[in-house]
Amino acid sequence: MIPKSRLIAAVLILAALAGAPPGARAVDPKTSKKIDAEIEKVRAEVVKIRRFIHMNPELGNREVETARLIASKLQPLGFEVRTGVAKTGVVAVLRGGQPGPAIAVRADMDALPVQEATGLPYKSLNPGVMHACGHDVHSSVVLGTALVLSALKTGLKGSVTFLFQPAEEGAPEGEEGGAELMVREGALDSPPVSAVFGFHVWPEPVGQVLFAAGNVTAAADSFNITVKGRSAHGARPQEGVDAVVIAAEIVTALQTVVSRATDPTDPAVLTVGTIAGGSRRNIIADRVVLEGTVRTLSETNQKKIRGLMESVVRNITGIYGAGYEFEYKPGNPSVFNNPELAAAMTPTLVRLLGKDKVVEWKPQMIAEDFAFLARKAPGFYFFLGVRGPGQPATPLHSPGFNPDEKAIPLGMRILSHLLIDALEGQSAIAGSGSVF
Ligand SMILES: [Zn+2]
Ligand SMILES: [Zn+2]
Repeated sequence: MIPKSRLIAAVLILAALAGAPPGARAVDPKTSKKIDAEIEKVRAEVVKIRRFIHMNPELGNREVETARLIASKLQPLGFEVRTGVAKTGVVAVLRGGQPGPAIAVRADMDALPVQEATGLPYKSLNPGVMHACGHDVHSSVVLGTALVLSALKTGLKGSVTFLFQPAEEGAPEGEEGGAELMVREGALDSPPVSAVFGFHVWPEPVGQVLFAAGNVTAAADSFNITVKGRSAHGARPQEGVDAVVIAAEIVTALQTVVSRATDPTDPAVLTVGTIAGGSRRNIIADRVVLEGTVRTLSETNQKKIRGLMESVVRNITGIYGAGYEFEYKPGNPSVFNNPELAAAMTPTLVRLLGKDKVVEWKPQMIAEDFAFLARKAPGFYFFLGVRGPGQPATPLHSPGFNPDEKAIPLGMRILSHLLIDALEGQSAIAGSGSVF
C-alpha cells in the first residue's frame, strides 16, 4: 500500500499536473534546447557505455561491473550514491537547486542466460549470457538522463532518484532480489518519492511509445503440481495408480479454468509449461510433476483461478485414489499505471513524439517487477519502440534481439522531459516550498 505522506504528495503532484493549463507545465523552450544540447554532448559516451554493458552482460544479482561503471559515472557529478542496494543495485539521488518534490526513475541492469546470435561487432563476450531483454539500453538511457539532468541541476525543482536495479528477470535460486528487495531496502524512501517512472524497450518502431493507463502487465504466479500414483507393471495397470493418465486429465481440465470459469473480459492465462514423470515405457508411473504459470490482471481472477486449480487437482486425483501436492507461488504483481499520472504525462509524450506515435495499448500478459515500485508510489511505465526501419520485429529474450541505438538519445529526451514536467507540475501548486 502507498503510505499516506506519499499519497498526499502524489495527490498534489497529480492535481497540479491535471489542473495546469495546456502547455503550462511543459518544459520551457530554453530548457528544452538545453536538454537537446546536453544529449548531443553525451550521446556518443552513452552509446559507448551501452555497448560496453552489452559486451559484458551480467546475470541477476551479479551485476557487479555494470553497477561499478554506473556508480563511477555519477559519483563525481555530486549525486548521492548508494551502492550494494538489493545486492548490486545503485541508488543515486540528484538534488535540484530549487525546492520541490521527489520523484524516481528506474532501470534494470541484469542480462539473461541466452547465447547471443546477432553477429554485432559489440556482441556479448560472456558465453551463454546476453542482454536479450534490452536492460543494457535501460541502464544507459537512465544513466544518460541522469547526466543530462545533472547539467540542469541548478534550475531543477526537487529531486530525482535514479534506481539501477538488479535481477529484474528473477534472482538466482535461493536468493532474494529485484524491485521488491530494492523497495524493502528503502530505495524510494530517502527522500520519499511521490511518483516513479520506468520503461521497457519493445520491438515496435523507433519513435513510438506505447502504454496503458491502468494495468500494463499481468500478475505472474507460478505453480507446481505433483501427482502421486502407485507404480505397477505396465501390463497390469489394475494394480497401480497411473500418474500419467491422471496428469493428462488434469492438464485438460485446467484448460477449462480460464475458458469456462472466468470473465472473458478480464484476461487471464494458465499455461502448463513442463510435464515430467515416469521411468520406463512398461512401468506405470507413480509420479508426474507439472510446472506452469498463471497470468492475471485482477486480484479476483488471481484468487479464483488458484482456488479452482486446486479443486481440479484435488478432485481428479481423488477419483483415481492418487495423492497430490499443489504449490502455488505468487510472483510479480501487475504493473499498474496510475491513471491520473498517465493522463498527466500523455501531453508530454504527444508534444515530443506527435499524437500518432503515442499509442494507447492493451495490457500485456508479461511479468515485470516494476510493479513493486508502482505499489510504493504512483507509477508510470511505458514501452519504448526500438525497431529500426526495415528491421524485423525480433522478440525480447531471443538470441537475435538487436535494438536500434537511435532509441537511446530519444529515450533520454523522453525521460528528461517527463521527469522535469512531473517536478514542475508539482512545484506549481506547492509554491516555493516542498510538500515534504
Ligand atoms: Zn525480460
Ligand atoms: Zn526486461
